[in-house]
Amino acid sequence: MRFLLIGAVRRCFGLVSICLVFSSIQQPELHAVVSSVTAFSIESHPAKCIILAGPSLFDGNDTARIDGSKSDEYERFEKGLMQYGCAHYRRRCRIRAPCCNEIFDCRHCHNESKNSIKIDTLRRHELPRHELQQVICSLCGTEQEVRQICINCGVCMGKYFCEVCKLFDDDVSKQQYHCHACGICRIGGRENFFHCSKCGCCYSKVLKNSHACVEGAMHHDCPICFEYLFESRNDVSVLPCGHTIHEKCLKEMKEHCQFACPLCSKSVCDMSKAWERLDAELATLSNSFDDKVVRILCNDCGAVSEVQFHLIAHKCHSCKSYNTRQI
Ligand SMILES: [Zn+2]
Ligand SMILES: [Zn+2]
Ligand SMILES: [Zn+2]
Ligand SMILES: [Zn+2]
Ligand SMILES: [Zn+2]
Ligand SMILES: [Zn+2]
Ligand SMILES: [Zn+2]
Ligand SMILES: [Zn+2]
Repeated sequence: MRFLLIGAVRRCFGLVSICLVFSSIQQPELHAVVSSVTAFSIESHPAKCIILAGPSLFDGNDTARIDGSKSDEYERFEKGLMQYGCAHYRRRCRIRAPCCNEIFDCRHCHNESKNSIKIDTLRRHELPRHELQQVICSLCGTEQEVRQICINCGVCMGKYFCEVCKLFDDDVSKQQYHCHACGICRIGGRENFFHCSKCGCCYSKVLKNSHACVEGAMHHDCPICFEYLFESRNDVSVLPCGHTIHEKCLKEMKEHCQFACPLCSKSVCDMSKAWERLDAELATLSNSFDDKVVRILCNDCGAVSEVQFHLIAHKCHSCKSYNTRQI
């Protein structure tokens, strides 16, 4: 029998009065009903984003038509493309951190080394990215003010370059774009995202007419790992309730049979199939508390109802959810 003894049942909904039995739900089914959608991916912080014209200008049969100086210039531009950088970016420059005056590959490299638990708390700090002023060309070593083309050797230090965010990246397959409303660069292609002013963030177009707007939804920490979501480089999901959480943290939650939003307790995905199963499971059990009535509050629809007490779970009469609590 798939039904598990109560003792073996894990706690499922954080605030549900009694643990529900989800162990009987098979994973593939669960994934099929997940309705949250990846909201956005972030690139770095903050309006002019320039992607240099790619090889299309120069390659193929057109080469013959380009005069010598242009092709020289192009060669200089492209020199070392994708060959320099760090774990975070392909780029042809390093940066001088305005905070500690040290040289790093990028601000994430700086933060990893200067803002880690290994560093004395008083000396820990993040690089104030808008204040970045100096970069060092990786090809010729010339230190200069932030710009896209090296003042000395003419190399393009980042095929994608954002003047506001001081962001350089040769890997344009990320489809970086700068969102003025967000004030930062994001990835995934401008055409695939829209900026929701109420949520205060760029969301996938898939969510345009289908997400629940929550004032400043993205301007808080992930309820699981506490990373600030707006600037997170990991994918973020918008739950049906409008709250936001890292995609990977949501996955982890589900793996631990947690199906309720940590912020508002609403179900994080369509649970109707699970509830139907639970209906069937409960029907096979005899309930020895037939006389006892309890009041419950539904975490999903907010309805209050009086139901027969049951050891396993209480079902909301309004929306059929078992995501309820006794009140
Ligand atoms: Zn620093
Ligand atoms: Zn140079
Ligand atoms: Zn930008
Ligand atoms: Zn935006
Ligand atoms: Zn919104
Ligand atoms: Zn998280
Ligand atoms: Zn929520
Ligand atoms: Zn309900």
